[in-house]
Amino acid sequence: MERDWQAMTDLGKELRRQLTDALPPPQMPVLLAARSATDGAHKLVLGTPHGPSVETVIMPMASGHVTQCISSQVGCKMGCDFCATAEMSTRADLSAAEIVEQVAVACRIRAADGEVRGGVSGGEQGPLAARPHNLVFMGMGEPLDNHRAVFDALSILTDPKGYGSSPRRITVSTSGLARRLPALVEAHPQVNLAWSLTATTDEVRERLMPINRGVPIAKMMQTLRDLPGRGGRKLTFEYALLAGVNDSKEDARRLAKMANEVDAHVNAIPFNVYPGARYQRPDKATVASFAREVDRSGGSISLRESKGQDIGAACGQLAGSHETSGAPKPA
Ligand code: SAH
Ligand code: SF4
Repeated sequence: MERDWQAMTDLGKELRRQLTDALPPPQMPVLLAARSATDGAHKLVLGTPHGPSVETVIMPMASGHVTQCISSQVGCKMGCDFCATAEMSTRADLSAAEIVEQVAVACRIRAADGEVRGGVSGGEQGPLAARPHNLVFMGMGEPLDNHRAVFDALSILTDPKGYGSSPRRITVSTSGLARRLPALVEAHPQVNLAWSLTATTDEVRERLMPINRGVPIAKMMQTLRDLPGRGGRKLTFEYALLAGVNDSKEDARRLAKMANEVDAHVNAIPFNVYPGARYQRPDKATVASFAREVDRSGGSISLRESKGQDIGAACGQLAGSHETSGAPKPA
């Protein structure tokens, strides 16, 4: 999709000039592009006009499809104890344009690299044909803490005249801002939801995720139960496994029970260690027996390995390590 008014030569010259003045295209230079040597994950660090940079990750999946992980904020004020993004000193809400632009840049880079999937429906040409199959709001930031921009970005991404992405292939992940969920579901009923649960008791969750003090587990569970019309919308529980903290068999049994209560699928991800991290990832045997116990207790679970660990692109590793590497800092 063309974003530069000047390139829209079917519009008059004067109109193009007026549009460029009134609505300049977002400028997000690619400050850094790194590709994982092990799994092909591709991390892009993009500058924003107001200074701080933002990170997005393009991940080739085993299915042959591509999933893009996008950011909704720079940094995050939710303060989770196990997340590098929370430790960033820079914080900013991204605009809807800056959220959508992450997808636009990825499309352009993939199209330029010739990574366009074959047999594109509608016979699209150019960058749009290279748009990712799945989009997950699991990069930097809490999407529901920047809900207006995220809702607008979802509208643009799913509009047939915009990116035409299927809402069923978009997932919004939240640490649990329950009061914003009804509005999200009303505006975008088919978009999938992920809840970063991460602990099965309030006592442990409160230590890991400050949001649990305002929205304890039972309150979020009730909110999920009360949401209108699931339709085809999927619900997942994200569960970062932290050694000795949330990886016991009792945790696995409680997790399975909770997931079943709201018909959620569990995505468990062994903790990704980052410099200065206060937690460890459990050993392989513990991870496997945790997953087995969830399964045995009737829960549906996938074990995920985060992609791009060698380039600092894995879940929880996006920490703006390049935030000073090119974009002008605000005065
Ligand atoms: N703020 C939203 C969206 C970001 S998603 C949310 O928290 O849901 C980031 C996901 O990565 C969350 O599920 C989070 O629990 C997980 N995560 C954060 N740090 C991690 C780490 N170091 N290792 C593995 N997963 C991590
Ligand atoms: Fe923010 Fe999510 Fe990280 Fe928590 S896990 S600090 S909500 S990005």
